[in-house]
Amino acid sequence: MILIKHIQDLQQLLKIYADKLFSVGFVPTMGALHAGHLSLVEASRAQHPITVCSIFVNPTQFNNKADFEKYPVTLERDIRLLEEAHCDILFLPPTLEMYPANEPIKHFDIGYIETILEGAHRPGHFQGVCRIVDKLLRIVQPHTIYLGQKDYQQCMVISRLIDLEKHATKIAICETVREQDGLAMSSRNMRLQNGEKELAAELFATLQNIKSSITGASPAEIEQRAVAHLTGKSFRVDYVKIADATSLQPVTEIDPGHKMVGLVAASINDVRLIDNLILN
Ligand code: AMP
Repeated sequence: MILIKHIQDLQQLLKIYADKLFSVGFVPTMGALHAGHLSLVEASRAQHPITVCSIFVNPTQFNNKADFEKYPVTLERDIRLLEEAHCDILFLPPTLEMYPANEPIKHFDIGYIETILEGAHRPGHFQGVCRIVDKLLRIVQPHTIYLGQKDYQQCMVISRLIDLEKHATKIAICETVREQDGLAMSSRNMRLQNGEKELAAELFATLQNIKSSITGASPAEIEQRAVAHLTGKSFRVDYVKIADATSLQPVTEIDPGHKMVGLVAASINDVRLIDNLILN
């Protein structure tokens, strides 16, 4: 694996591959890698001769300073895992190269998708995601960007960004990789203390419960019950929502012919976790 820190060096190397008509798959991450990230690398390697992974803890997508400061950093281990996964290039840009001083802040008109769920609970978060992903796509110019379904709304935001900015990149969405007990793998899981990790599996159990009771009550009732259940288990719940799987518009009546997704965000102490499940 080639480790590259500077944009210019990366672009020089990618130009050599482009001249040879090698296609590039790209896996953007914030590090603290786990099997979910590695599944994206594997998916990229199955489709492209060259896979680029980036690790950059993007400050502009953190609406909460403490969350940014506590974000786990495990660089040596990440490099080893990416080597073992046969990733070709690891891009590790310094913050000042991604965000030069005095650079004007670009606004991305992503509309409704930014106003709900993660967008509503984390003001500015998706603008930060768009800023960094837009920059990375301009630098790497991959044929395909590999994203995890774990961040369902983020996949929709990036799809909108690609349309808006006319990037010539396709999106591949990979299934959420889970622990044996169903907990969605997440870098933030590293911050869970004794017993909290077991408790965190309740999020997926709740989504499964919603899925199995989807025709039994109204969406509002199902959501309320799920919130009460998680609150009773001492989660601080931001939302439990049943939404249209393509638009993320709220579902007011269950229509089994309509693809629906259940989405949840809740914190255990100060560790905020999200998950989702396609319901039908
Ligand atoms: P992050 O490092 O959390 O920004 O995530 C980088 C990429 O990995 C994003 O596209 C995430 O959706 C994806 N990802 C994170 N967790 C998982 C998981 N458990 N399964 C599959 N993909 C994941």
